[in-house]
Order: sequence, then C-alpha cells, then structure tokens
Amino acid sequence: MTDTLFKKIIDREIPADIVYEDDDCLVFKDINPVAPIHLLIIPKKQIEKVADAKLTDKDLLGHLMLVAGNVARDLGVEEAFRLVVNNGSGAQQTVFHLHIHLIAGREFNWPPG
Ligand code: 5GP
Repeated sequence: MTDTLFKKIIDREIPADIVYEDDDCLVFKDINPVAPIHLLIIPKKQIEKVADAKLTDKDLLGHLMLVAGNVARDLGVEEAFRLVVNNGSGAQQTVFHLHIHLIAGREFNWPPG
C-alpha cells in the first residue's frame, strides 16, 4: 500500500502532537477535534482498514484497545470516552491507515451519527 498521511506522521515527516508511542503504535491529537479530547490511535504497521486485518494482526488490534484504555485513564476520562473506527469511505473513513478515534470530554448521544 502507498504511504498515507499517518505513515508520514509515524516517520516524523509531518508533525503531530504525539501523546503516546511504543514499538507498535502511536497516539496523537486529531488536527480537527470533535471534542475537547480527540486522539487517534494507530498501529505502526500499515493496515488500510479493519476489514483488511488478518488473524496475525490479532495481538496488534488487542494492543490498540489496551492502549486506548491506558491513555483514557492517564487523561482521567476512563469513565466516559468513546472509541470510533470508520471502515471504508461509505463510513466516512478518509485516511486509509487503520485508526481508532478516542473522543472524550463532552456529552455523548446514542445512536451516533
Ligand atoms: P477518518 O475520517 O479517516 O476516520 O479520520 C481521519 C482523521 O484524521 C480525521 O478526524 C482528521 O481530522 C484527522 N486528520 C487528517 N489529517 C490530519 C493531520 O494531518 N494531522 C492530524 N493530527 N490529524 C489529521
């Protein structure tokens, strides 16, 4: 797959406000936040979207969820945050490097839009 914007952020070719990093993932602030806290949790491995993940990605996908919980705890929002994964352009995915939105700090409604 071709390099996306997020790959360039991983490679530090374009700047981002990074809040957490380990060997397998990166967490940074969304440039266009929809809530007081809006982070993007991305694997360093390039996977276009959830539907493209393989069985061999199982641990990596689990790791992203655990990081989401850890980051939420660090920010003191562990009791009220939302994780969103847009899969495909029909679901409003715009960057084709798998990512989890972590949104917090405002009231939530259900169902989501
Ligand atoms: P998607 O719509 O693909 O689920 O989410 C992509 C997200 O990436 C959007 O919320 C958008 O605001 C964010 N985004 C797009 N370009 C940049 C950028 O250059 N830097 C950062 N930090 N976020 C970006």
